[in-house]
Amino acid sequence: MAHIDLLLTGGDLLTVNKPFDRFSPGALAIHDGVIEAVGPAREITDTYTADEVVDCQGCAIIPGLVNGHTHAPMTLLRGLADDLRLDVWLMGYMMPVEREFVRPDFCWLGAQLACAEMFRSGVTCYGDMYYYEEAVADATAEAGMRAVCAQSILKFPTPDSASFDAGLRLAQDFVTRWVGHDLILPAVGPHAAYTATAELLRGSTQLARAYDVPIHIHIAETEEEVSQQVETHQRPVVSWLEDQGLFEAPVTAHHCVHLDDDQLRVLRHHRVGITHNPSSNLKLASGFAPVTRMLALGIPVSVGTDGAASNNDLDMFEEMRLAALLAKGVSDDPTALPARQALAMATRLGAEALHVAHQTGSLEVGKQADVAVVDLERIHLTPRFEHGSDGGDSLASALVYSGKSTDVRHVLCNGRWVMRDRELLTLDVEELRRRAAKVAGRIDTFLAAREENVLSKLVAIGGVDRVETFEVQVRIRFDDAAVVEEVLEREHLTPVRTSRRHQYDTYFLFGERDTSRLRYREDEVLAETVDGQIENVVYRLTLIGETKHREFPRSILLSRSRFDAPATHSRRFYREYFQPEDEIRVHKHRRRYHVRYGGTDFALNLDRVTRPPLPGVYLEITSRTWSAQDAERKAQLMAELLDLFGVATREIVRAEYVELAADQLGSPAPNP
Ligand SMILES: [Zn+2]
Repeated sequence: MAHIDLLLTGGDLLTVNKPFDRFSPGALAIHDGVIEAVGPAREITDTYTADEVVDCQGCAIIPGLVNGHTHAPMTLLRGLADDLRLDVWLMGYMMPVEREFVRPDFCWLGAQLACAEMFRSGVTCYGDMYYYEEAVADATAEAGMRAVCAQSILKFPTPDSASFDAGLRLAQDFVTRWVGHDLILPAVGPHAAYTATAELLRGSTQLARAYDVPIHIHIAETEEEVSQQVETHQRPVVSWLEDQGLFEAPVTAHHCVHLDDDQLRVLRHHRVGITHNPSSNLKLASGFAPVTRMLALGIPVSVGTDGAASNNDLDMFEEMRLAALLAKGVSDDPTALPARQALAMATRLGAEALHVAHQTGSLEVGKQADVAVVDLERIHLTPRFEHGSDGGDSLASALVYSGKSTDVRHVLCNGRWVMRDRELLTLDVEELRRRAAKVAGRIDTFLAAREENVLSKLVAIGGVDRVETFEVQVRIRFDDAAVVEEVLEREHLTPVRTSRRHQYDTYFLFGERDTSRLRYREDEVLAETVDGQIENVVYRLTLIGETKHREFPRSILLSRSRFDAPATHSRRFYREYFQPEDEIRVHKHRRRYHVRYGGTDFALNLDRVTRPPLPGVYLEITSRTWSAQDAERKAQLMAELLDLFGVATREIVRAEYVELAADQLGSPAPNP
């Protein structure tokens, strides 16, 4: 009789090897952390004696589950911002909070919390991608969990790297230190095609090849991303990544929701593994990944939870079941993705997708002992049937459709007990909970302060410049536009230059909450030709705060402090992010004349407001100013200009366009 470390015996053992062998009762012999033998209980117990023998009667013995994709530290952002669109969720909430809070200790704590949660749902291996991946690897190794840890690299500054060069260096340092570790496989994580440059991708590939480690990348998560990619590179996303040589390294691609057969074949050709994240795709309404096509093509597809911020838990039992149900619902075919396949995706295929199938994913001799023991004597698993069952089908269906993560009783990772009778042995859950609550408190305070006013919310998404303007201004209304040209000609005021544009403004108003108003402007600059083609479109976002007036008899001095940023997101994004109480649109055609009068530059804007349609045309005369004395001089000159136009003081329009529009529409007047 051979003597070994550990014997698990008496359970209903499902190997999840390719033939799906099942031994009931079965046993598993483990020595030095490695599976020494697997087979019928009688046969194994006749061959081995062990230091420790665990009776698994009434339980299933299955491979530890593989969570193909997560961002472990995001457990600390669980439930932070829900029910939002992906861009608002990511750019409006996740990224600003990450910029402020993500540090190595944050990542360490979040990763430990993730390991605790995953062990309790039977997970023994996961694929990760985040910042400060060194801390994630540290926390994971300390917990005794297996993981593929990818250091994220993006083309813009991240919490751990000011540039992508710095990101690549960080990844290289990380990979060098961890390569060859028995639990952690370091990896390189160019975040996605749309957050990468060709150079970044080539650098990542070189690094991965030099150390023979995998690459993790998000591909085709949303439809928008896919169409933008085609617009930018005139190539479908997978083809473009192939052009950059990315698939010369072993790759795990996350999501792949919007890929056709041709693109999937390219992935298969390069032996790319895919992770399918049904909860995350559903929660962010990213679409339905063509999972059955991927599997039919022979691509190893893993099931993943994605980060806890978009799921919101790391429960692989739930994910497995959802993968099976979703595939049926989407294809109108109840035979799609049967239980056995779902279980394989959460184990053996998952390990293949992560390029760690030589170590884990099934109960086979020579693999590391990553095992979950699941209690089958539960009400929701009672009774069970065996008729017509081909090998592991009935047990797989019990686990996938009725099993719950709370049924997992013991977990063994790399031959080491990490959970016995649901008690975690390597992690101090109470301490982790206490520390996580503290971090959440700090994030809450940060967000509450940010939500206090529109400006701090605007600043949080970045790119904002403060602009102070002082200008003398007057606005008058004419019935007829011709009068302006007539006066200019008569007075020999030849414009220095002119321009034409269409301005589409949306004013977001915040009622009692905030007196400032936010303007989203689409500025179409037109060519000075007869057909007036659009030459350029500029999108700007301007927060207009309190305006200070000083009234001159025939004009006003405006002193305005504005916050100005290029509007890089859509109007819909800003609407959903800022959640204004009201919205007023003002469209106008603007003809601008730059003239010199009295040795001074003036801009004459001749505006026709088309939405809401306001009668007549408006002439706005403005000039920048820098001192009170200068303002007075310009106010005097402006009064003279008004005389040239024959305008009486009472004809001066004191309201701004947005106020005139509000009047016309009968909505409550916006704050000044
Ligand atoms: Zn992800």
